[in-house]
This record gives sequence, structure tokens and C-alpha cells, in this order.
Amino acid sequence: MIVPLVLHDISQNKSKTFETISFDIFELILEQIKGNDVLLNAAKTCKKYDHKKWILTFDDGYSSHFTRVLPALMERNMRGVFYLNSGAIDTKGYISWDQARELEKLGMIIGSHGHNHLNFLKLNNHEALQELILSKNIIQEKLGCAIDSFSFPFGFYNKRLINLANQAGYKIISISDHGVIRNSTSIIPRNSLNGQMNFSQIISSINPTLTKEIIWNIEDVTKLILKKTVPEKIYNLVRKYAIQIL
Ligand SMILES: [Zn+2]
Repeated sequence: MIVPLVLHDISQNKSKTFETISFDIFELILEQIKGNDVLLNAAKTCKKYDHKKWILTFDDGYSSHFTRVLPALMERNMRGVFYLNSGAIDTKGYISWDQARELEKLGMIIGSHGHNHLNFLKLNNHEALQELILSKNIIQEKLGCAIDSFSFPFGFYNKRLINLANQAGYKIISISDHGVIRNSTSIIPRNSLNGQMNFSQIISSINPTLTKEIIWNIEDVTKLILKKTVPEKIYNLVRKYAIQIL
């Protein structure tokens, strides 16, 4: 089976925000999965794996993805998928276009995370399609390679949006629901590793047991109910603290 993971910013020392993890912890994570990382397309042929494999994905295109993540991956001969917000590139805290090209040149997979990091649930079909196509075209033009994978900002998606992403030409869609891949799929669940987790929680997300998968399901269903019933601010607050309990 394949366990897809999603990480965000990697800081030099202690984690600063909810999603950020420290470089020390990041290196420990890489040591756990070294030699067994696979790229996104592996999700379509995952049945052939007898042993556990991991897909490493990074959202948002933070500067640290070039300065810290890339060297750490190269050192271990590992690959990652980098989902970029085309509108954030070349702005403070994010990678530049030159760095994005370097990531691609060195064998990393580049995907789109939209242009403006919007909540797609709030967009109508026309607006969503525009945002999906805009970021795809900009990244393709700047990098000179095909961009066929998309990850939804904030993990906010539904069936309508998946269809629109397919219409825009994306072949693989990464979401933020938990889960593992046991059968061929083009929709990739992803398990977040973040600064709110202690190391044993990180290890249990990297190596999920069946119990862990059940807990993930409960967490995702709860999140879905909260998303639909409480204001966004309260939802974000609950999400931030719930992770410490689960
Ligand atoms: Zn994001």
C-alpha cells in the first residue's frame, strides 16, 4: 500500500505555526521512509507493491522547500511533489521561478495549488475553472513542462470541483482527507504531518494501523460536519486543537 503525506513550511528550529515543522523532525521523517518513496503516478499502479511506500507532497511553495527540503531529499536520493501557488511565486517567503525550474530540473514533480490560494467551495463553476486553468497555464509556461496534478487549497473540495479540475486537464488530484492507497486511483488522500504533532503521533501517521485509519475516518467525518455547520473561524480553531486529542 501507499501512504501519501503532506507537509508545509519547514522551519530552521522550533515550529512557528500550526502546520510548520522543524527541520530536525523533517529529517527524522525522511529517515523513516528513505528508499521507499514513490512519485504521484505510482498511485495508479500501487497494487504491484508488496511493501509500504510513501508519496511525499509539499503544499504552497515556501522558500524552505528550496533551501531545506530540496537538499535533504537530494542527499537521500528521494523525490517529492511540490504544489505551487503561481500567484505567490517570487514573493516574500516563497520560492522564485528560477528555484521552481531548478526543483523540476532535479527530478521533483511540480503541481498546481491554484493561483490565489482560494477556498474553491466559494467559487462558482466559471470562477473555479478560471483559477484552475490560470495556474496550470502560468506554471506550464514558466517551467516548460506539463502540469497535470492539482491540490486544493485548505483541502476544501467536493465532487463538482474534482470534475472541474479534470475538465481543466488535471489527471491527478490531491486532497487533504486522510487515508492510504490500496487500489489504483487518481484521487490522492494525504496525511498531514504538522507542528501540532509529537514525534510518536508523526510515526503513527507514517505507519498507520487499521485503528489509526478508523480514527482518521472519524476525524474526517467530524471535520466535514463542522465545515458545514460552524463558521470558518471556529472550524479552524477546532481543527487546530482537535489534532492534539486525536
Ligand atoms: Zn495551501
